[in-house]
Amino acid sequence: MQTVHCSFCGLSNDKVILMISGQTGQICDQCVGNAQKIIQKNNQESENDTKKTKTEDTTSYEIIPQPPTLLKAHLDEYVIGQAKAKQNLAVAVYNHYKRLLQKNQSKNQDIQIDKSNIILIGDTGTGKTYLAKTLAQKLQVPFCIVDATALTQAGYVGEDVESILSSLLQAADYDVKKAERGIIYIDEIDKIARKSDNPSITRDVSGEGVQQALLKMLEGSKVNVPPQGGRKHPDQKLITINTENILFICGGAFDGIKNKISQRINKNPIGFITKQTDTVDTTHLLQYINAVDLKSFGLIPELIGRLPVITYLDPLDKKALKQILCTPKNALIKQYQALFAMDDIQLNFSEDALDMIVDKADAYQLGARGLRTICETIMADAMFVCPSQKDINSFTIDKNYVEEKISVLKN
Ligand code: ADP
Repeated sequence: MQTVHCSFCGLSNDKVILMISGQTGQICDQCVGNAQKIIQKNNQESENDTKKTKTEDTTSYEIIPQPPTLLKAHLDEYVIGQAKAKQNLAVAVYNHYKRLLQKNQSKNQDIQIDKSNIILIGDTGTGKTYLAKTLAQKLQVPFCIVDATALTQAGYVGEDVESILSSLLQAADYDVKKAERGIIYIDEIDKIARKSDNPSITRDVSGEGVQQALLKMLEGSKVNVPPQGGRKHPDQKLITINTENILFICGGAFDGIKNKISQRINKNPIGFITKQTDTVDTTHLLQYINAVDLKSFGLIPELIGRLPVITYLDPLDKKALKQILCTPKNALIKQYQALFAMDDIQLNFSEDALDMIVDKADAYQLGARGLRTICETIMADAMFVCPSQKDINSFTIDKNYVEEKISVLKN
């Protein structure tokens, strides 16, 4: 047999298992194996590269504005009633995202679209926070809830307003880019109203002072934030966050604002209620709320100017409370039924039992929040006993059962 050598490693054909001949050279079986490994490695690397660019793409925060009707339809699945607030929120969010899109595109740059921060006004437990939360889930952006009452003007005991952004940063897993697209819900904004309509001569550190401090942030500016929240101190490492694209939703019960609205309407017979035929629905005065009322309540005009979308939530009547109890995707009754189903127990509620829960919640005047408290009281014993009773496969809560359990509440 003629001796030939591998063109790659130089081994002769008597030292290898197989020698493959080509037009101008040969390759031994070992070199084929090695070449195969190189090809595999190479393929793997390019596959990883494409995967990497794909993840980079998904984290490039592409903006796809969702039409307002679609957003509202999503809110409808979870939140009962509150049509006006849902519509206003959906439009404000849509415009906000269009504004972001405009910034990314080169066209229409000569027209600057302003931010559309929102203020929600409504009694406690009517769904202000829940609306904002549900919206943030749909938009899949970082979302945080902060309490305005914890804030004080810089230099005083309490939290600096920058701590609001620390919370958002935490919600965004410290990804600054992601945080800069987030939504912040500032609860209890009414609690930082100044105490009288006239500018105060004494320092109002937790009221007007905080409102002033919020202005820049709400409008859109670069803010240095202590990543862990709390107070800023000189040696701390600060992270800069641009709030230009952060949507702020403020909420508050504004107790007593209905009086301001009614005063304004009565004082102003030829105001916006123009025709003789126009009647004022005194049971739902919040529907007439405007910037003037917020000012007389004690928000400073500059702050009101940065919250251009003013919307209200209706008080929840018994019909709405019953719906909240039974119909939304996350309805309380459905949650208890799911818990019992995990123990293979079918949980039923009679109609009159549901009505009784609703009556009690209505008397509490805590909005939908009352429902949860009452249901927990009613369900506590059943949730304790049922899982260990192997012989039962269904459990019914009827009026008598509810009556017995809520009798401990003594009111
Ligand atoms: P607030 O208006 O005081 O911010 P929340 O939004 O926190 O009240 O409401 C408390 C809870 O009550 C929510 O988590 C939600 O489960 C329920 N809830 C309130 N309003 C509604 C509503 N309109 N539809 C459905 N659930 C509601």
